[in-house]
Amino acid sequence: MNAKTSAPAGSAGAPVTDWLACPRCRALVYRKRFERADGVCPSCGAHAPLSAARRLDALLDPGSARPLTAAETVHDPLSFADLKPYPDRLSAARAATGHADAVRVAAGTVFGYPVVVAAMDFAFMGGSLGVAAGEAVAMAAEAALARRAPLVLVTSSGGARMQEGALALMQMAKTAAAMAALDEAGILTVTVIADPTYGGVAASFATLADVVVCEPGARMGFAGPRVIEQTIGQRLPDGFQTAEFLLRHGLVDAVHPRGELRRTLAVLLASACGHPDRTGPPRAGRDDRVAELPRPAPATVVRDPARLAVRSAPEVVAAARDLRRPTTRDHLAYWMDTFVELRGDRAGADCPAIVGGLGTVEGRPVVVLGHQKGHTTAELVRANFAMASPAGYRKAIRLARLAEKIGVPLVTLIDTPGAHPGIEAEQQGQAGAIADCLRVFTGLRVPVVAVVTGEGGSGGALALGVADRVLIGANALYSVISPEGCAAILWKTREESPAAARALGLDARSLLELGVVDGVVPEPEGGAQADPAAASLILRDAVLGTLDELAVLEPAERVRRRRRRLRGFGLPGPTATGSDRARFEDTDEEESA
Ligand SMILES: [Zn+2]
Repeated sequence: MNAKTSAPAGSAGAPVTDWLACPRCRALVYRKRFERADGVCPSCGAHAPLSAARRLDALLDPGSARPLTAAETVHDPLSFADLKPYPDRLSAARAATGHADAVRVAAGTVFGYPVVVAAMDFAFMGGSLGVAAGEAVAMAAEAALARRAPLVLVTSSGGARMQEGALALMQMAKTAAAMAALDEAGILTVTVIADPTYGGVAASFATLADVVVCEPGARMGFAGPRVIEQTIGQRLPDGFQTAEFLLRHGLVDAVHPRGELRRTLAVLLASACGHPDRTGPPRAGRDDRVAELPRPAPATVVRDPARLAVRSAPEVVAAARDLRRPTTRDHLAYWMDTFVELRGDRAGADCPAIVGGLGTVEGRPVVVLGHQKGHTTAELVRANFAMASPAGYRKAIRLARLAEKIGVPLVTLIDTPGAHPGIEAEQQGQAGAIADCLRVFTGLRVPVVAVVTGEGGSGGALALGVADRVLIGANALYSVISPEGCAAILWKTREESPAAARALGLDARSLLELGVVDGVVPEPEGGAQADPAAASLILRDAVLGTLDELAVLEPAERVRRRRRRLRGFGLPGPTATGSDRARFEDTDEEESA
């Protein structure tokens, strides 16, 4: 998109007329309407470049912005001249934009949540990252740290500023260090990628944020398309490096139109800052059906196997696999007041079989992630039948680490026939990805609750199942292998899968007896499949109650108990059953008292 034709009114040099032509669809747009929409074409949705000043106005609550000024930096360290001396180019950019350099910083609020925003201005020498811009980003990070407020970065840049030589290159490392300090302090960081974001900015702070949101059509990459085409001698595919391409390849979390950015930020900020009595983020995202539902009577999680009916194994298997049961996306729709889905492993793929994100349930921040099945063949195919790839497990690790960083509880929902068996999955390290999930989850200091909601198939299920408390739906199953697989291997025929199912003890009652699960969540008459909404709300209340139990423990104590719980599996004696383990934990408390 041509920055000049779409420069906002008031920019020096731009003729001010009542109408302007959209650079993409050529539609004539009334200038005031275009500006009210913050530079988004009402006809085709193209997002025009926004100046840093306009960007701060568009994101922050009216009247809340307090400009922050970076320290003085060296000017023209190399006495650089190309066709023009660098100082002349700088002066021209300053005159044209009214800014000292390419980054503007302000502290302010979004829906009442405090935040520090650093916005880049492409109109200032292509938003290039020089010493002053790098200093402004580092200063913004330090201001966020001092205030313990989340940092939002809006990027738009061609890359490092050549005229400042190696000192410009070093700004990549300077800003990366500033981002690392925020990671260590548990401060949420969010990048909004505006078109275009390339080179040294893409390869430093832009992609180091916890959450990376793109504007539609925004391009991001290390090397620009022209450089790539010249180097490899091939034409690049349409849409290469655009927001939608990046999302598909797991490199960014989400694509949100400019008009939705404030709300998206508010949801993220609310989740990272607790939920104080501020304006609060708008409660979109919650399924409207929830409001119409009668609230189910609080159901108690069953911890005594004797209170559960003995059921035939084939009946359990059929119920657990029933496609009418609520999926992870259904639970999210029923549970969450606010929610932002976060996608991608940041390493080349987004796995549709595991979905997750950050939001609030009953006003409480939580990261939720789970396997996604579907109710129809098309939905199942789209989600790869809930069989996750290594990218899915790496996404799970990424979200778990986000929960850990910002101190928010983690809830996982397990419903998979197993991890995806395939050539690519093996090439990309399926075994290692699952193993890494297990290891990372054992060390999380935040409360972790896992629920087997349907089919708990093998290692692919357990990858999301290392938790302080493991619950299971009354009609769900959890097994080391599918009954069909077990029968084929040990009975030498898949016909014997009912016998295998019986022998494997994969039903909720057996698992509670073994102590593999800590509690069984009741389901409505006829199972979750008969009344998905009621089942989902019963489950939500069970999860919230369990999180309450875990919240009273110190983080280090949670890790110690979680590892002790794992250590006890298969040992004779007090760890054998759920009720006995409760006594085991009581003893623990006495020991530590
Ligand atoms: Zn247009």
